Amino acid sequence: MTSMEKDICSLVFNQLRKNKRIDTAFINEIIYIYLSHKHMEGFIKENVDETNLQACSNYKKGEGAAIAAFDPKNKKIVYSEEGIKELNYYLQRSYSPAFKSDDMFLLLSLYVTQIILHELEHVSQFKQTTEKEDTLESKLLSSTKCSEIIYIDYPFFQRNYQKDLSERLAQIRSFTTITNIIAEEDLHNNFNVFFNNKLINEKLRGFDFNQYIYFSTGPTLDYMDELIKNGYASEDSLYLYKKDKEKALLELYGQYSTSERVDFGLPILKQEYDQLNESKPKQLVRV
Ligand SMILES: [Zn+2]
Repeated sequence: MTSMEKDICSLVFNQLRKNKRIDTAFINEIIYIYLSHKHMEGFIKENVDETNLQACSNYKKGEGAAIAAFDPKNKKIVYSEEGIKELNYYLQRSYSPAFKSDDMFLLLSLYVTQIILHELEHVSQFKQTTEKEDTLESKLLSSTKCSEIIYIDYPFFQRNYQKDLSERLAQIRSFTTITNIIAEEDLHNNFNVFFNNKLINEKLRGFDFNQYIYFSTGPTLDYMDELIKNGYASEDSLYLYKKDKEKALLELYGQYSTSERVDFGLPILKQEYDQLNESKPKQLVRV
């Protein structure tokens, strides 16, 4: 575990012993831990607001969005108590055969932690792109116009959500933190099955093999093609395309490891995809 993961782990298990409540103080603590480990103190308001999320300027429909959101205009994270209650009902309804009632609160708090960490990844992305950091991540995020497109063309954002790099990285990073915590704790194997399946599904999302059988160009380049097609970018404005696409594909394949290419949604072989797919844990079992 990284030192940030250790702090988050202590927070979650303390809450379990203390009062079994997901409250503002718990969410603020996650935000504080994340910002201090990433040296981003003061970058956003460190107190979360409980709010009606529909009123948030960056409200996105879809996964996790009814629970929390990052509002870049006001530099804060907002969350909904109502949304957390609904998630709790949903988990109780769907997963009570697989988790003992004692474990249900832990499942909920790990899930809420993942959702808040997802929003914090968006905060980090916002920082990286506004400060134009000289990293592959920052360049790819800028090329995919991650913090702009939702304001420019909401239907485009919705249509291409599955290929959106900022959403991809936010899901992969936040689920990775949760699976790393679970790996260190002596928990029922269903926790591992539940969160690792989610993590691997996020990694597999958006790769298709329709065009080439043995090879996928990956969701990130496919997304850039959509931007070009819709007039939101030209080929020479995009970081990877400056030479030409074929060259970019080969370079990316040679330069980055399988896990880097998977996480960034870059070109992978069918064989690499299958290996990852087969590494999924088995089904949940009844307890
Ligand atoms: Zn998101």
